[in-house]
Amino acid sequence: MRGIRGSLCSRCGNPAATYLRYAKLNLCREHFLDYILDRVETAVRRYRMIKPGSRILAAVSGGKDSSTMLLTLSKLLAKLEFDLAALHIDLGIDGYSSEARSIAEEVCRIAGIRCMVVRLEDMIGLNIPKLARRVRRPPCSVCGAVKRYLLNLAGVEAGVDAVALGHHLDDLAVYILKNFLLQNLEDIRKLGPKTEGYDGFVVGRIRPLYEVYERDTALYVNLAGIPYQSVECPLHSIGMEGSIRAFLDSMEENSPGFKIAFLRSIARSIDKYPQPRDEVNRCSICGMPSQGDVCSFCRMTERVLGKPMGLDVRMKVRDIISRIVSVKSG
Ligand code: SF4
Ligand code: ZN
Ligand code: ZN
Repeated sequence: MRGIRGSLCSRCGNPAATYLRYAKLNLCREHFLDYILDRVETAVRRYRMIKPGSRILAAVSGGKDSSTMLLTLSKLLAKLEFDLAALHIDLGIDGYSSEARSIAEEVCRIAGIRCMVVRLEDMIGLNIPKLARRVRRPPCSVCGAVKRYLLNLAGVEAGVDAVALGHHLDDLAVYILKNFLLQNLEDIRKLGPKTEGYDGFVVGRIRPLYEVYERDTALYVNLAGIPYQSVECPLHSIGMEGSIRAFLDSMEENSPGFKIAFLRSIARSIDKYPQPRDEVNRCSICGMPSQGDVCSFCRMTERVLGKPMGLDVRMKVRDIISRIVSVKSG
């Protein structure tokens, strides 16, 4: 059997499964899987994302990116000596969420990681499409806010040190450049490889795929034989991010490794970007981060349901977590 254009693996001489332009490497299946695991471990160490004894909650969507993150983190448990559990948020989107949920649960089973599922409709009686219609905002904006709220809430209730997000370097480069163009400099600070939590009500965030390309996450799940959701969310909209992505892709095409260098320089200078000033208070209803007296989740749910739901949701999430008796540890 011949590999990529008849090339042989740079490590072992077997037929190559892929060529990585940014690393100038032909790799066979086994050495590609090892290489990505090594990239994740190197980024975790370089940016000090995980300390021995850390408790990490991985957000898993059922997509290739978070599945790559969960699989690679699960392989590093013993070596880096941390605890890992997973959380899936079921958004209730027709033709998408039920498949996402079953794939996320299956990937967690394969990785041997306990998975909590938080179903939005069980929390507030509405799914994302209905909630977005009632608040008259674009679905992705409502969905992003709900996911951020629930991830932080679950992280706080589970007492973890950080929530791990499956953002890969292509998406992060787009978000960072978009925020730069719009001069939302405080938001750039939130997009580094690691953000610290504080005071027990804001949980830290880590991005183990900070230096992993999207193309490599797709190949990783394919070569590892892991199921993943290939259909895109029907509510997905591209906006200006599509043009920024095309620009960054052309830079990468002309200069392989450009995006890695860009994100590394952002990580080196992240402290120079202004500190986000938002969300430093505790919501007087649910205790979660808030710009004012009441958090945006409580305000939004009060507007559409006549009652702020933050505290109810917190109790329900606490109940789900209490049923997770232990997490897998290294
Ligand atoms: Fe949510 Fe938008 Fe992503 Fe769909 S595309 S899961 S609505 S953020
Ligand atoms: Zn090889
Ligand atoms: Zn609240």
